[in-house]
Amino acid sequence: MKVVISEIPDEGLDLEGEESLELDVIKLISPVTARLRVEKVGQEVIIRGDLTAHVELQCGRCLKDFRREVLVPVDVVYHPAEELRGEERYELKGEELDMGFYAGDELDIQELMKEQVILNTPMKPLCSEACKGICLRCGTDLNTDSCSCSEKYIDPRLEVLKKLLDK
Ligand SMILES: [Zn+2]
Ligand SMILES: [Zn+2]
Repeated sequence: MKVVISEIPDEGLDLEGEESLELDVIKLISPVTARLRVEKVGQEVIIRGDLTAHVELQCGRCLKDFRREVLVPVDVVYHPAEELRGEERYELKGEELDMGFYAGDELDIQELMKEQVILNTPMKPLCSEACKGICLRCGTDLNTDSCSCSEKYIDPRLEVLKKLLDK
C-alpha cells in the first residue's frame, strides 16, 4: 500500500485493506487490517485510524506461546524530509502524535504499519494477568500442575537464621 502525496485529494483519502507483513521481532499469524484516513495539510501528511494485528507472543511467565489480537491506534504526522536539512524546529501539536518524515512524493503505508504494530505490541506480554508461571526450580507449569518445591525449599538465608534460632 503506497500513497502518492501529490494525489491526495483535498477531502482526504480513506484507505482500507489488508497487508501481509513480515516483522523480525513479532510473529504475525494473519495479514494486518488497516482502516486509515490520510489528509494533507500544507506540506504535512496526517494519517489517523487503526490497525488490527493477530500476533503470536511468548508469555513472559510460563513461556508458552499464545495468540492475541492487537488493536493499534494510528495518529502520525509526516513532514517532508527536506525540512530536516533546514534548522526549523517542530512544534508538536499534542504529545499523542507520532512524527515521521517522507522523501519524494510517496508514502509507504506498509512501513507505517510495521512501525506501529511493533510500537504497540507489548514486549513482555503475559498470556493472562493471572498466569502463575513455571516453577523456577523444577520447571512445572503452575497453571496446570502443582509441585512441592515451595514446601520443601527453604531460602539459604533463612536456613542460616533457622540454625541460629535452633541453638
Ligand atoms: Zn503465561
Ligand atoms: Zn517445583
